[in-house]
Amino acid sequence: MQKIDMLIENGFVLDFEDNSEIPELKSIAIQNGKILEIGLPNDLKIKYDPEILLPADSKIVMPGFVNAHTHLSMSYFKGLADDLPLMEWLSKHIWPVENNFLSEEFVTDAALHGCAEMIKNGITIFNDMYFFGDQAAQSAEKVGIRAMLGEGVLDAPVANYKNADEILSYIEKMNDKYKDNELIDFAIAPHAIYTCGKENLIKSTKLASKLGLIVHIHLSETRSEVEDCIKQNGKRPVEYLNSIGFFENPVVIAHGIWLNEDEQNILADKKASIAINTSSNLKLASGFDSFKSYLDYGINLSIGTDGVASNNNLSILEEINLTTKLQKALNNDPTILPAKEMIKISTLGGAKALNKENEIGSLEVGKKADIILIETDDIQVQPIYNLYSHLVYTINSEQIKDVIINGNIVMKDRKLVNVDEEELIDKAKYYQKKIMEFNNIR
Ligand SMILES: [Zn+2]
Repeated sequence: MQKIDMLIENGFVLDFEDNSEIPELKSIAIQNGKILEIGLPNDLKIKYDPEILLPADSKIVMPGFVNAHTHLSMSYFKGLADDLPLMEWLSKHIWPVENNFLSEEFVTDAALHGCAEMIKNGITIFNDMYFFGDQAAQSAEKVGIRAMLGEGVLDAPVANYKNADEILSYIEKMNDKYKDNELIDFAIAPHAIYTCGKENLIKSTKLASKLGLIVHIHLSETRSEVEDCIKQNGKRPVEYLNSIGFFENPVVIAHGIWLNEDEQNILADKKASIAINTSSNLKLASGFDSFKSYLDYGINLSIGTDGVASNNNLSILEEINLTTKLQKALNNDPTILPAKEMIKISTLGGAKALNKENEIGSLEVGKKADIILIETDDIQVQPIYNLYSHLVYTINSEQIKDVIINGNIVMKDRKLVNVDEEELIDKAKYYQKKIMEFNNIR
């Protein structure tokens, strides 16, 4: 028998190529962080001698979710201010506390909380936009989650940076520091076209080309952003960015709601993806529109949660549930975005957006073992006729029991393996007090 690291045994293994509604029971052999073989339980049982045997009876075994747009270290701002317009929410509530609290220590703690929360929601990689990426990377490593850390680029001084040049050289330094790290990648994240001018957008693009990184930006989130761009640049946002060569590199557009057909044509042509953030858009009333034509143009779609300050949770299952229902309503068409399509968007679509579709996003031999196990022996879940339907319309994050990232178990039976959950909760309470005190005196 061949010695291997892990055998996930006898689960409903999701295979996007398989058209059955409930897949046959299978096992997955894992070695050196990668999927070595997927096969019938009896075949793999006699072939492999695993160091860890993970029974998956009555569980769905699927690729981890890809959170394609988030702000990890805003964890402690969850529920701080709600039910407000975007600019008022930002300028009166979020920016003042960020200005006062952002530090290496704060981000280390908040990132730890955020990474833990991601895993509880079955997210195995997230595409972040925030600051102090080095500290976020250390926290992600500690929890054991894969991270794409986009350091925010803005014209104005922010966090501990005097200007965008300092941020760009920091990204270069961090990219070098973490280049051999299995879990951590850096990205360049110009915040938005209204906070990052043409010169810094071009500098961001050039650095991304030089280092081979992806670019991550908020774009066309509100109607007024589009109107302002036309006033200032004589072009719509995607046309403006295209005119400065912004789409030379893989780009993740967060939100991307207000795009006309010419813009969609450009995105379909380039290595650009859209991260859909339905909860955040609905809650901030940033707007929402049908994206049926995005599908027709073949633009790669992925799912983001946005930060917990605007969502206010990190459930990808909730996002796909809301997104397909909203699109059905907007298009007056219940057949749009069927369940299997939504699951693919939230896994493989995200992997494509992050330029990692050869490594993650589906359960295939040779890909990284980023896998989640979901309980189905549950009153809320039974009976089952179609697993994809259940994932989108029935199951919630509480039923996600085990999470494996890079071949390592990071959550077992809903308990995090690498961090003490009680400590995280105590820390969150500590910062809540601090933030309340600050808000009372400002
Ligand atoms: Zn955002």
